Amino acid sequence: MSHHRAERMNIRIEEVAESRLSELDFSKIEFGNVFSDHLFRRNWEEGAWQEASLIPYQSIPVNPAALGLHYGQAVFEGLKAYRGTQDGIIRLFRPDRNAERLQRSCERLCIPTVPTDDFLNAIQALVSLDRDWVPASRLQTLYLRPILFGSEGHLAVRPSRTYEFWILAAPVSEYFDRAGPGISLKAEDRFTRAAPGGMGAAKTGGNYAATLRPTGDSLAGGFNQVLWLDAHEHHFIEEAGQMNIFFRLGDTVVTPPLSGTILPGVTRDCVLTLIDEWGLAREERRISMDEIRDASQRGLLSEAFGAGTAAVVAPVQCIQYRGTNIEVPDPGSDSLSKRLYDELTGIQYGEVSDRHGWTVDVT
Ligand SMILES: *Cc1c(COP(=O)(O)O)cnc(C)c1O
Repeated sequence: MSHHRAERMNIRIEEVAESRLSELDFSKIEFGNVFSDHLFRRNWEEGAWQEASLIPYQSIPVNPAALGLHYGQAVFEGLKAYRGTQDGIIRLFRPDRNAERLQRSCERLCIPTVPTDDFLNAIQALVSLDRDWVPASRLQTLYLRPILFGSEGHLAVRPSRTYEFWILAAPVSEYFDRAGPGISLKAEDRFTRAAPGGMGAAKTGGNYAATLRPTGDSLAGGFNQVLWLDAHEHHFIEEAGQMNIFFRLGDTVVTPPLSGTILPGVTRDCVLTLIDEWGLAREERRISMDEIRDASQRGLLSEAFGAGTAAVVAPVQCIQYRGTNIEVPDPGSDSLSKRLYDELTGIQYGEVSDRHGWTVDVT
């Protein structure tokens, strides 16, 4: 093991004695079951962030009374590193947005925030050290998972006084099979993901815990994901699993507004920016299930797709709502979802000009 200090930021680096990379078969990568050689770790104690380090990926002891475990004081992020198909340059995609969203999630859950520069430096240092783990395939990436949680052992319901901040790196393949006909959604009319005033806009594990039961039921029923509806009436559309949702009604693209109950996706923001750039009409407004069903019957529903870092842009084929199937017509090869997917992945893999300044090279 070698011990030295990184130049750009005070990060102690403890390298693995032997890389596990040779054990990895890139052709058999799934989503999230293999992790790279190193882990970023930084603790918060006595009111301040302590030494940052990159250490061999390993299990870390946790106090059995850790507040993050008992009361869910935990937040996370999700972003990817892409290897350029033509130039081999490793790029991050809008990581500043993840840094800012992590700060907003932290504020909602009384967790000390990570300054944007520290977040970016930590990501850079981890990906740079484990750069050989960034896959070369255009259908694969190195997924980065920052997580922050209250580590103090105490049973009182109050914010923790100590925190763990880790960043994990996992080589992953695409989330949904792109050759397939599109995903099917079950509009959930019993359970809800988030209510007004709750934590829906924060990326926190508690929101995911609430989705496990209904998502499991949907998968067992043959669907790919849940379409979440509003908490009052189960009538207005919110988002689809870990994706924001878009519909193409006539010539207009519509998506629910950032009302506080949905997650403000980075991909969502990119989709809206590209739609504006391409001169297409779009609206951020409430959309009811009745409106989608009526639009479908009148032939106005031409496309539906989800958007998120894990799945990029995923076309929706069918939505079941209260026992009725709403079929989305196959938009064919010149669909907007395909155009968005090609543009986003083109920028991410360094094939399309990055005119919005979205990518950051890993050095
Ligand atoms: C992370 C997430 C998204 C997508 O956000 P991106 O920044 O585009 O990856 C959408 N919905 C939920 C619930 C999420 O957790």
